[in-house]
Amino acid sequence: MLQGGVSIGRYFGIPVRLHWSWFIVFILVTWMLGAYYFPDSYPNWDRATQWGIGAATSVLFFASVLAHELAHSRVAQAAGMTVKSITLFVFGGVSQIGQEPGRPSVEFRMAIAGPGTSLLLGAAFWGIFFATRHSVEPLSGLAYWLGYINISLVAFNLIPGFPLDGGRVLRSILWWRSGNVRSATRTASDIGRGVGFLFIFGGIALIFLNRSYWLSGIWLALIGWFLDNAAVGSYRQVALQDMLQGHTVSEVMSRDCQVISPSTTVEQTVNDYILKLGSRCLPVVEDGHTLGIVTLNNVKSMARELWPIRTVREAMMPLDKAKSVGPNDGLSKAMQLLNDEDLNQLPVMEGNSIVGMVGRDNLLSFIHARAELGM
Ligand SMILES: [Zn+2]
Repeated sequence: MLQGGVSIGRYFGIPVRLHWSWFIVFILVTWMLGAYYFPDSYPNWDRATQWGIGAATSVLFFASVLAHELAHSRVAQAAGMTVKSITLFVFGGVSQIGQEPGRPSVEFRMAIAGPGTSLLLGAAFWGIFFATRHSVEPLSGLAYWLGYINISLVAFNLIPGFPLDGGRVLRSILWWRSGNVRSATRTASDIGRGVGFLFIFGGIALIFLNRSYWLSGIWLALIGWFLDNAAVGSYRQVALQDMLQGHTVSEVMSRDCQVISPSTTVEQTVNDYILKLGSRCLPVVEDGHTLGIVTLNNVKSMARELWPIRTVREAMMPLDKAKSVGPNDGLSKAMQLLNDEDLNQLPVMEGNSIVGMVGRDNLLSFIHARAELGM
């Protein structure tokens, strides 16, 4: 959902990006502040000050959101997790963290760090407001609004619906008490869905009850819809991780490997191995050394008329470039690698030799079978 965007550098080694939808809210917030909020609150300021302070406030608002996300990410890093990126988008910020927290205490600290940071920022901005309100009015006006918005961020994020921070706090407590991450996530994400629906109905009610609030109504309903989607998606992801937990690649991999020589033509490989034997594990071996693997993608990316004249040496994925897993690696690791690298299958390596292949289809049939048996 949040692919693409503009990079604005790295902080603590974490790449930070602005999603395209961020630019829309940035312009809206700046415009709302410069054209309405500051002119209404401080009619004595000149236009340039109203717009200048409006733009500065808007930039600091998004810096506050970034500080909130960085706090989550720093705690995750301290717990040994990898943070892939932080993206600012229309509804705030998201930290893309490589794995789910392994213990309830880690989850609790990670979840509380964000609102904790926003609370400190809110207090600091209100401190600046009180210190400067009789001396430097533009600074105090900026600080007042930022204090207010940071405290609002705390209140919103502490709503106890997963995947909001409050929902994560709730999940960590349920998880700590029951030891069952899946049922804890189920409860917290059900509450998240409930909150999402309340926002949607509240938004629609607002549109009908008071026409002048139609934009706020639409906004509220959109946030509700986003929350509902996020709650469903996060539960599915956790349920999936939980299902794969404790199972290894060797349980699902295909072992029907057919060794082929590098001089075999692509046409021969397709006819004799892929179509006739239905084999998906095709290591290319010469003098006992594995040189690479042939996958359906390698074959498909070559023009049909070249198949009779090109050899698998030219078509294969060289072993040193191929990502691989071991037979004793966890299924969730295999799943993550397939997703991260956008691959359909991975070679399973033991030492220097290929002992099988694991693909999305192997994982899917594993998941389907267990889902059907209700496990
Ligand atoms: Zn947060």
